[in-house]
Amino acid sequence: MQRYYDVAVIGGGPIGGYVAGEIASNGFEVAIFEQNKQIGEPLKCAGLVTSRVFDFLDISKNLVVQNKIKGAHIHSPSGHKLTIGGDRVHALIIDRPIFDREIIKSSIGKGAEIFLENKVVSAQIHEGQIELKTSQNNDVKCKLLIGADGPYSKTRDRFAMSQPTEILRGIGAEIADTELDPDFVEIFVGENIAPGFFAWIIPTNEHGTEARTGLCIGPESTKSPSHYFSNLFKNKYSSAYLENVRITKKIGGSIPLGVLKKTHTSNVMLVGDAAAQVKPTSGGGIYAGLLCGSYCSSVAIEALQKNNFAPQFLKKYHKLWSTDIGRELYLGMKFRKLFKSLTDRQMDKYIEKFQKQKITEIISKHGDIDYPSKLVKPLLKQTPSLIRLLPSIIKK
Ligand SMILES: Cc1cc2nc3c(=O)[nH]c(=O)nc-3n(C[C@H](O)[C@H](O)[C@H](O)COP(=O)(O)OP(=O)(O)OC[C@H]3O[C@@H](n4cnc5c(N)ncnc54)[C@H](O)[C@@H]3O)c2cc1C
Repeated sequence: MQRYYDVAVIGGGPIGGYVAGEIASNGFEVAIFEQNKQIGEPLKCAGLVTSRVFDFLDISKNLVVQNKIKGAHIHSPSGHKLTIGGDRVHALIIDRPIFDREIIKSSIGKGAEIFLENKVVSAQIHEGQIELKTSQNNDVKCKLLIGADGPYSKTRDRFAMSQPTEILRGIGAEIADTELDPDFVEIFVGENIAPGFFAWIIPTNEHGTEARTGLCIGPESTKSPSHYFSNLFKNKYSSAYLENVRITKKIGGSIPLGVLKKTHTSNVMLVGDAAAQVKPTSGGGIYAGLLCGSYCSSVAIEALQKNNFAPQFLKKYHKLWSTDIGRELYLGMKFRKLFKSLTDRQMDKYIEKFQKQKITEIISKHGDIDYPSKLVKPLLKQTPSLIRLLPSIIKK
């Protein structure tokens, strides 16, 4: 059966759902195609966001916020502990499946149509229109295609867009019977913990009795994520937080890092993880994706109003998001390069040094999970010896 839409969005994740709702609320016909049976499943997220994400959404915080986080304990490979924050709420922990479902519910309320269990199996441009086929034999024609199809975006491949610099592999679980400080996230770093990234334990209720734990590893790692995940329960420092816990749900997934040179082509735009719009320092993609999604939807609306889907017009989207958060994501990759170059001994040294120098106050005052580069100047002022690390950040 052939269907016609103004816009087809591939992917019913939070970013695709949000963008679809914004465009539909302007009176355009929008369809979302999601390969899975249920929105929000399987779980691929630790659920840590800042309250900024709610600025984009008309969903109730009460429905999705599980806990509020005031700080973090960062554990070095040999057990030094750096405490940051603790003064005020820095982050919110959300129930991701409910979050995703509420976004989709809202976009349906604005007029978008959703097709579940409809994997898009082909997409091509023909006579100025995009033609899609789905696994349920739906033939779709649309003026504009939005690829919000996640880290391994096929839209990105089908339209020969560039690829993210790297893709992290993640693993984790929801756990119960924990005894955690509900205000603090526990972060563990080190070659035997999570090479190329970090591991986390995030309390998901205000009693500290439930949590999400997990880790990501860089693409260079030859061992599997599950190898490191089982290590987490054996490691001297992390296992202390995981004794006698029960795993209630598994988490998996990948994180694309390193923004694309181009996120548009004729009649097509990429957004969210498909465009690697993710913070390289934390792997968080919800805020960056929604922010870029707001530009994607406004350019889509303008393109539909002007009936102009040429790359010269759609490049406005790439320019808008790059000008806004592009520099932060670029700098994030530089910090990541520096982080990846540190040995366990260096991590131990810096974490110990930071703890002694009461870096906590600076981080509490200037730290912003969404914009970590804001910390650089005040940190260098407090710890001038860090200037030695700058060449590796600046070097291309
Ligand atoms: C282990 C882990 C922990 C994370 N923790 C955090 C965190 O704490 N905070 C944070 O901000 N971010 C976190 N992230 C990142 C966050 O999950 C992503 O940035 C976010 O999900 C991006 O949303 P999206 O809509 O762009 O993509 P996705 O959520 O990946 O949605 C893409 C959707 O497209 C669908 N799809 C793909 N191909 C097709 C197709 N051909 N046809 C139809 N449907 C298709 C998929 O089924 C999926 O539902 C984490 C990621 C991982 C892996």
